[in-house]
Amino acid sequence: MCIFCQIVSGEIPAKKVYENERVLAFLDVRPVNPGHTLVILKQHYRNLEEIPVLELQDLIVVVKKIGERLKARLNLEGYNVILNNGATAGQTVPHLHFHLIPRHRDDGYPTWLHVDYGSGEAEKMLEILKN
Ligand code: 5GP
Ligand code: ZN
Repeated sequence: MCIFCQIVSGEIPAKKVYENERVLAFLDVRPVNPGHTLVILKQHYRNLEEIPVLELQDLIVVVKKIGERLKARLNLEGYNVILNNGATAGQTVPHLHFHLIPRHRDDGYPTWLHVDYGSGEAEKMLEILKN
């Protein structure tokens, strides 16, 4: 059983900040910033490809609720909502989860590095990706 399923079943303790029938939100054990919260479905789906849309809706409703709560109660100006989808993208626990990470102006975390497209690259990418 995966580590988050063990949290759902109570085998591993967690600091739960919110729970309903299908969704659980709990503090990340090693926060990027204090208050860093993970939001999961109680049912195990590995990634965004596996999770049915209706259940994703249940999840995102709680992401919004907890985001608003973090902002209000921690007096934040902003927070990151992150889903690492797949090991290459940094997913270490194979049970789909959203990270809600409180951010502070002076917390010193870097933003993403952006690059420029080379000549014709954006057009090629568009051909691959558009409908
Ligand atoms: P990922 O890298 O998969 O996107 O994020 C996994 C997150 O789960 C990490 O931020 C890590 O700190 C957190 N985590 C791993 N094991 C546990 C645990 O046993 N309890 C809690 N509360 N968080 C965990
Ligand atoms: Zn699981």
